[in-house]
Amino acid sequence: MDKEVNNNNSVINAHTGDLYLEGDNTGFVLLSKLSFLINLPRANSLWYLLFSPACCGIELMQAGGTRTDLDRFGMVFRSTPRQADVMIVGGTVTYKMAERVKLLYQQMSEPKYVISMGSCANCGGLFDRSYSVLKGVDLIIPVDIYIPGCPPRPEALLDGLMLLQKKIKSEDWGRIVSRHKARIDEL
Ligand code: SF4
Repeated sequence: MDKEVNNNNSVINAHTGDLYLEGDNTGFVLLSKLSFLINLPRANSLWYLLFSPACCGIELMQAGGTRTDLDRFGMVFRSTPRQADVMIVGGTVTYKMAERVKLLYQQMSEPKYVISMGSCANCGGLFDRSYSVLKGVDLIIPVDIYIPGCPPRPEALLDGLMLLQKKIKSEDWGRIVSRHKARIDEL
């Protein structure tokens, strides 16, 4: 860590601005921002919903396998939306499925995030002129990360998940709480 030592024995991390107070041999005190302390474990324990509306889901399944191994980032799938905080929309969403996708999203716990995986989920993809396909999942639920491709490789999904981790780490905890309250008021 790049650090700067002050007269009072405190150390400042040049990257994060976090302040550490070093003590004597009997122990030490650590000072940091509440958002930093809350966001660090949140970003490293993303539980994604075991769900996919179309063929991008095959790449999603592969991403959970040994080669990409999402578990090493603390990312595990949950089979119920109540315990999941990330929805990865893997592919085409038809109008018929759109209502179900929205319902699953509403059932997820707050704070929650959405990754749109693949061209079909982003904008309808190669079905953009179809009478039955939604032209982007962001028309029904808010999307945090878009991953292009048809289909995106597991590495691209991993990249998107790491971008989401970065976003979560930079969030202000006070704003997350107010967003949560606003969503509850909408219901
Ligand atoms: S982007 Fe390609 S792989 Fe993904 S759901 Fe659409 S057609 Fe299938």
